[in-house]
Amino acid sequence: MAVEVINPYEVAVAQFDEAAERLGLSQAMRAILRKPKRELTVNFPVRMDNGDVVMFTGYRVQHNINRGPAKGGVRFSPEVSLDEVRALAMWMTWKCAVVGIPFGGAKGGVICDPQALSRGELERLTRRYATEISVLMGPDSDIPAPDMNTNPQIMAWMMDTFSMHRGYSVPAVVTGKPLAIGGSEGRLEATARGVQIIAREAMLHNGMVPDQCSVVVQGFGNVGSISARMLHELGCKVIGLSDISGGIYNPRGINVHHALRHSKEHGTLLGFPEAEAITNAQLLELPCDVLVPAALENQLTQKNAGRVQAKLIIEAANGPTTPEADRVFNERGIMVVPDILANAGGVTVSYFEWVQDLQRFFWAENEINNRLESIMTRSFQAVLAKADEQETNLRMGAYLLAVARVAEATELRGVYP
Ligand code: NAD
Repeated sequence: MAVEVINPYEVAVAQFDEAAERLGLSQAMRAILRKPKRELTVNFPVRMDNGDVVMFTGYRVQHNINRGPAKGGVRFSPEVSLDEVRALAMWMTWKCAVVGIPFGGAKGGVICDPQALSRGELERLTRRYATEISVLMGPDSDIPAPDMNTNPQIMAWMMDTFSMHRGYSVPAVVTGKPLAIGGSEGRLEATARGVQIIAREAMLHNGMVPDQCSVVVQGFGNVGSISARMLHELGCKVIGLSDISGGIYNPRGINVHHALRHSKEHGTLLGFPEAEAITNAQLLELPCDVLVPAALENQLTQKNAGRVQAKLIIEAANGPTTPEADRVFNERGIMVVPDILANAGGVTVSYFEWVQDLQRFFWAENEINNRLESIMTRSFQAVLAKADEQETNLRMGAYLLAVARVAEATELRGVYP
């Protein structure tokens, strides 16, 4: 059977085109917003522990900076490609606009398998990548953050590398840092806390009661594992979980704390004794009320969309649903809360971290969480209202809000010179 190859950048552009058409944007505006503003490819050497020098390739793409400095995560993965980074950068532009924070969109990535690198190799790779993209980075220009396979330690190395070149500490150049060097309270959990808030609002809207809802989460990293914990704390019954090695299922409910402990001890969910082992493909088709894809792109496609049994899909990952799958969910009346809204809690608290670093004035965790709560609920209501008004789904509602905001900024700033 031929493997379906889905290019995430083509998906991102198709979604944008539909919004641009509905908004009646001029051809010139469409042409500007379809393309990333800057794309940097870097090839760089890293000395490995055995003395060999190996070349790596990385990217940093800025899609649009008309609403503020470029903002977006850095992904380390063997599957990273320029088109994937372009798509993720474009989604960051819309995401920042949906929640109304003053950033443009960017994303970065390095083609590598972090699991195959020692800590020293990972540090050298990170520092050299940061040096290579430092021509773009800066607290006023481009501010990286964690994404797949990157974490607060990697952000610490990026911030330190940039600071070494300047000769003084520049904490605001990166977000998602450890607390001890200018990180923010609540940042580690922020994306998942946003997912929890959005899931709660969406359930409420659909007349679903959290403690009567079953939940399946794909991906058990930063976003997936903490989302599972927070949905459990909301009262939901988590019945399915997965990571790259496969899934686990227990219709009576999985104790998320036990799963977290197992994953920490063994580095995988595989072999978790209190549930049945299933594949990632089976996981997505489990009978449940809420499905939370929190791993990677193109998981829900025209192949499996017809078999998905969830009533509500909360896109914690970026780009988990293809446009064809979206159409199937629309026809079947399954509500999809789009990535650019559902996972915007991460960039929102990254914005708080950046503001705190610039002001050298740090906020308490409850202040962070309260501000996050109000931005996420307000954004959900705004997207819902736009979708209702335009008789469309939530993804298009979010796109219509976001693209209009970015187009307005682009129009006001004009075409230089
Ligand atoms: P992570 O590296 O911490 O975790 C990724 C998880 O996905 C791991 O459990 C991994 O085993 C699993 N996974 C990888 N490939 C898989 C596959 N083929 N099938 C099933 N599971 C697989 O990454 P993360 O930061 O949690 O990011 C997850 C998603 O959330 C990504 O789409 C990312 O862009 C998005 N996101 C992250 C943040 C953030 O703050 N970290 C913010 C917004 C969106």
